[in-house]
Amino acid sequence: MTYVASADRYESMPYRRLGTSGLKLPAISLGLWHNFGDDKPLQTQRDVLRRAFDRGVTHFDLANNYGPPYGSAETNFGRIYSEDFAGYRHELVISSKAGWDMWPGPYGFGGSRKYLLSSLDDSLQRMRLDYVDIFYHHRPDPETPLEETMAALDQAVRSGKALYAGISSYSAGLTLKAQEIARSLGTPLVIHQPSYSILNRWVEEGSPSLLEAAAQAGMGVIGFSPLAQGMLTSRYLDGIPADSRAAQHKSLDTDLLKEENIAQLRELNKIAGARGQSLAQMAIAWALRDQGAASVTSVVLGASSVAQLDDNLDALGNLEFTADELKAIDTHSGVEGINLWKGATES
Ligand code: NAP
Repeated sequence: MTYVASADRYESMPYRRLGTSGLKLPAISLGLWHNFGDDKPLQTQRDVLRRAFDRGVTHFDLANNYGPPYGSAETNFGRIYSEDFAGYRHELVISSKAGWDMWPGPYGFGGSRKYLLSSLDDSLQRMRLDYVDIFYHHRPDPETPLEETMAALDQAVRSGKALYAGISSYSAGLTLKAQEIARSLGTPLVIHQPSYSILNRWVEEGSPSLLEAAAQAGMGVIGFSPLAQGMLTSRYLDGIPADSRAAQHKSLDTDLLKEENIAQLRELNKIAGARGQSLAQMAIAWALRDQGAASVTSVVLGASSVAQLDDNLDALGNLEFTADELKAIDTHSGVEGINLWKGATES
């Protein structure tokens, strides 16, 4: 059946400006890292994408190697896009990335012009798009000169294959350097995508912190995995459900679900309950909270069902925190080993 988007889709989602750019993102964006590969029913994928857009989620975040297998999330998205969303292209912000491992050999990983530009062509083909809205370098590559990587992003934009450029998991110092080069080329970076959640607060550390550096560089920030891959939800409070990411040994290590950490999650769940929110809703609201100039623009989260997505979007009902709530959350924040991307940032 032909999809017609909900007429009231723009009535409840806040849209926030990305740094000093002209582009706005929805406060909540949808990521397709998991749940959109060939291991998941296409109908569920379609239902989640439709529901997201119907509720104002205008931003879908992809990367070359999302799946499994690598590339399949873009292929599945491309099919659904061409059948359901092609008529809404101007209302969508679709992103892709290259930087992590994609194909064998020396040209399928890193930050070379060779890898980034051929990968972008492949992504466009898989997604059946003429251009992506944002093209990211997915992780820093210490072996490639930053000048070469930034020139490749600049070329992606100048060729019309991407409208904006961004970086992911770069440290504060490297972000400032990258922005200086990108600006000198005439294609300023508009966005940084770091991991960020109550359990993973690295972007707040150091001076300047990554959040401060991004603000200083005029860039917006989209925090990924705000639910710590499902830990900051009701999913694991009473065991490990068979259909969960952790049970399927995908990227959430069951070692992180040890009793000590679950006890911490239960405390956070109590704070959420007192706010009238689910743990997932509080975790999302927390990541989006007002931090002045260093506030996060959007969070990009995952959902394996429409029910999860709905629960998450209802976080928008209460984004305010009292000082006491924030203090209480601080005492239960941080988990050892949660930041899987730390090695790339520090490389
Ligand atoms: P997440 O939002 O922290 O975790 C999503 C998972 O949490 C879902 O798959 C689901 O797990 C569970 N969940 C979500 N909502 C729930 C709810 N209301 N109740 C119970 N469980 C719930 O994010 P993520 O999937 O790890 O990452 C989100 C996006 O960030 C990715 O898709 C990608 O776009 C981006 N990302 C970027 C990078 C990068 O290097 N730039 C790295 C990682 C992620 P189950 O599947 O078990 O149901």
